[in-house]
Amino acid sequence: MKLNKQHAQIFVPDNSPVETALARTTALCITAHQDDIEIMAFGPIVECFAKDDKWFTGVVVTDGAGSPRSGVYEKFTDEEMKTVRAQEQKTAAGIGQYSAQVLMAYKSSEVKDPHNEELVKELAELIKQCKPTAIYTHNLADKHDTHVAVALRVISAVRSLPIEDRPQKVYSLEVWRGLDWLCDEDKSVFDTSAHTNLAAALLGVHDSQIAGGKRYDLATLGRRNANATFFASHDVDASDSVTYGLDITDLVNDETLSPAKFIIGFIDRFKDEITTRIERVAP
Ligand SMILES: [Zn+2]
Repeated sequence: MKLNKQHAQIFVPDNSPVETALARTTALCITAHQDDIEIMAFGPIVECFAKDDKWFTGVVVTDGAGSPRSGVYEKFTDEEMKTVRAQEQKTAAGIGQYSAQVLMAYKSSEVKDPHNEELVKELAELIKQCKPTAIYTHNLADKHDTHVAVALRVISAVRSLPIEDRPQKVYSLEVWRGLDWLCDEDKSVFDTSAHTNLAAALLGVHDSQIAGGKRYDLATLGRRNANATFFASHDVDASDSVTYGLDITDLVNDETLSPAKFIIGFIDRFKDEITTRIERVAP
């Protein structure tokens, strides 16, 4: 598959042909930035790790140009930063034994432009090539504009495909804002307790983002532990590390449903739960 952008690339860790790597994909994860995949999708990554019949493919939409930089990276130009971040992402793909790592190299401003159809069309083509069982992307209650924009472009891309080319499931996952606020029955829970060494390695390779003092690696592992412990308050931990997701398959398949209305519905359920609990015990 030929990608649109000049600096776009598809890296296949085991050197299979690109078409093979895309076609064998069962789990397709589409994110805004280099490192988002490793923060939010370790559950699906580890589910596919070292399996012959399950393959994880990562897609990073932006080029990494606007990345914050400090320490040894402080004097790096945008061009140098793009190279560093692409390399970090490819290292992660190698460690995680991804089927393929797609780097689409869009500018962040292009992703956020609601009238830009190019990205939606290219994502639709990628999804068609991969025909995954499940797609994972950002959640609509995330607090980063580019993350939410990517989620909206993924929804549009899947909606543009005929039913037979769509995945069975689409999940939205947590990065900038956890999904702990969802009512427990609305949460999709992904076990991230296996291969803790891999989890640490996958987060740690994104050195350019961590070196300045933002310990995304420790924060992510800590959030997973906290999720597991606080999930069901009366039970012994079934797992000591989980991430949360929200199943957005119904939203993707119902073109009449607006993304804003869909996520607000879950916020209303959260509001109702709090109201009911207070009313139950209030004097
Ligand atoms: Zn991000």
